[in-house]
Amino acid sequence: MTITEKYINKILPYLDNDIETEKINGLISYKFACPFCHIYSDSEDSRKNKCASLTPIQGSYDYKFICMRSRSNECRRIYGGRSFHNFLAMYNPALFRQYKKELATL
Ligand SMILES: [Zn+2]
Repeated sequence: MTITEKYINKILPYLDNDIETEKINGLISYKFACPFCHIYSDSEDSRKNKCASLTPIQGSYDYKFICMRSRSNECRRIYGGRSFHNFLAMYNPALFRQYKKELATL
């Protein structure tokens, strides 16, 4: 397991209690309700809509965060999505600091 995968597993429980997974290019992609823009939805159904995903970037062990709804500044699709690095820094700064520390010890 890569450090990125390890931290994805750490962050998943915070994101949604019902995460959908899908295999893409032999790696797992995770789908969940967007933690940034679900609050802007009017109906329960659309709040639960799994519009966001952490998806493996082809040809690497890196992941990117994409929100199909893209309703907030944090999840707006710029340059085709955010890196996991960037996503973690925004969503959980405490966990991000651990992640950076662990990457630095490689
Ligand atoms: Zn969103």
